[in-house]
Amino acid sequence: MIKFKNILFLFFIFTSSLLPAKGITIDRVDPPYWWTGMKNHHLQLMVHGNRIAETTPVVNYPGVKLEKIIHTQSSNYLFLNLIIDETTKPGTLTINFIKEKKQIVSMPYELKQRDQSLGNHEGFDASDVIYLLMPDRFANGDTTNDDVTGMLEKADRTNPNGRHGGDIKGIENHLDYLTGLGATAVWINPLLENNMPAYSYHGYAMTDFYKVDPRFGSNSDYKNLIRKAHQKGLKVIQDMVFNHCGTNYFWKGDLPTKDWYNQWPEFTRSNYRGGVVTDPHASKSDEHKMVAGWFDTSMADLNQDNELVANYLIQNSIWWIESTGLDGIRQDTYPYPYKDFMAKWMQRILEEYPHFNVVGEAWLSYPVSVAYWMENDRNFDGYHSYLTNVFDFPLMYAISKAFNEPEGWSTGTAELYEIISQDFVYSHPENLVLFADNHDGDRFFSKMGEDLKRFKLAMAFLMTTRGIPQIYYGTEILMTGLEHNGHGDIRKDFPGGWPGDTLNAFVAEGRTKEQNEAFNYLKTLMNWRKNKKVIHTGKLTHYIPQDGVYVYFRYNNTKSVMVLLNNTEEDKTIDCSRFSENLSGYTKGRTVIKQRIIDNLNTITVPAKSPLIIELEK
Ligand code: CA
Repeated sequence: MIKFKNILFLFFIFTSSLLPAKGITIDRVDPPYWWTGMKNHHLQLMVHGNRIAETTPVVNYPGVKLEKIIHTQSSNYLFLNLIIDETTKPGTLTINFIKEKKQIVSMPYELKQRDQSLGNHEGFDASDVIYLLMPDRFANGDTTNDDVTGMLEKADRTNPNGRHGGDIKGIENHLDYLTGLGATAVWINPLLENNMPAYSYHGYAMTDFYKVDPRFGSNSDYKNLIRKAHQKGLKVIQDMVFNHCGTNYFWKGDLPTKDWYNQWPEFTRSNYRGGVVTDPHASKSDEHKMVAGWFDTSMADLNQDNELVANYLIQNSIWWIESTGLDGIRQDTYPYPYKDFMAKWMQRILEEYPHFNVVGEAWLSYPVSVAYWMENDRNFDGYHSYLTNVFDFPLMYAISKAFNEPEGWSTGTAELYEIISQDFVYSHPENLVLFADNHDGDRFFSKMGEDLKRFKLAMAFLMTTRGIPQIYYGTEILMTGLEHNGHGDIRKDFPGGWPGDTLNAFVAEGRTKEQNEAFNYLKTLMNWRKNKKVIHTGKLTHYIPQDGVYVYFRYNNTKSVMVLLNNTEEDKTIDCSRFSENLSGYTKGRTVIKQRIIDNLNTITVPAKSPLIIELEK
């Protein structure tokens, strides 16, 4: 038997060397299809296939012009610049690939009619509350896709850093849970293919920008999820990553161009100092390392200075918006890609969808650094980002400290006051996305020392100050976890999301008394907030924290909401004469959570370590 195998092996070696080289093929085109009637008429196709560059493509379709054919160092790629003019009708065009006057291979390419029913691309704003969830850890609605043939990593729920089997079906099954809680938008951590051998669950090492990971579902499952979410009044925000891709992307070992990735003589990490990009005194070498260094060994640093890479990424996001009707994008690691490219990308999105939103993750500690990335006309170097929204990292740090600290000149709620008072650096403070925690840091309840009173103070603040609140899945049921225990600790499975789970926190009976108290508090607040224009668009006036209480008002011409945050361990009775400029004309009020009537606005008592939110009445 062994002998026979050896003979077969030798036969294979011998014959394969005599076989002609593999024929010319096409195995992939990106984007997989496009549309007529787009505002921008340009489309660049990346055609990939064995020796395809030896051919000359020919397009014959009314209204479509093959403007340019681009060859690269690899004979396995052709880039085709098409112009689709305004009169072009939807349909399937054929691209013929010719060599020595013979047609070698041909490829159908569909130009679809734009589908207006998918969504209005109106984006999100301060009328929304965003619920962030990690799809692998939220709910497993389909156990048959936990392991998929061809995908390197199998499900292993015992491994905190492994895949746990959560999926799109799991999200779909709990849309009513999300809307019941009061969420109006859901930001889903990346759903695209991550065919990496380990740590693939978090989704940030994508190996196909055009395909949902089969362990989460299919592209059409994703599209259906968005459709169903829209029917329930829930917007969907897609998590995108342009800084890097997984090293197992299909172009592995055969990059379209040598500079497709930023190359280094040996593996070089980014210095992760996002601030150097906006530092007027930064050295060129620090800045270069920041943007061209790799995020990780498994995450190749894309070179967006290469126009082919840039087009690939820009078209990709337009493809997702147009094909699914999604409502917004969360863009990862915003200062890490080349910033001129990011501005070009944003311009192109806004050209196509003028009311669309993108929130950028500029993970920086100071308002002035974050403000640089939100579109403005005041940057010292004249940079225009065109970015509509940024996360308010400085306020997240302040929230994390304020309610754990004793009140003082610069501690306690003074932390919040100081950050909010710097809003003048932002072109649109109302477009900041506010959060107490997310998938990259300590769970908020843990940060609060698992103290429900501090937790409620923070949530009251988050839901009533300026900006767009975002909560992290499980925050509403007081999930705990610390980053230094590993990312698995802050990304635990939502109890009840898996068949056979002994606890089901999606329903009241499955939650502890304390969890229900937190859940109901947030639910009441978020549902109240839903229709309160005064919170969405009203002005903000805040008063210097005094005697341990931070007081502010959200108001417009007809409504006013007064918020008092008592950050001390004793009940406080406040003399309200200091707030007369905001109280003038109002005689009473009603508290939001308990619906208690306040009939005296001269003095108000706020219980120890508690918030009080009052809708004022005339
Ligand atoms: Ca599954």
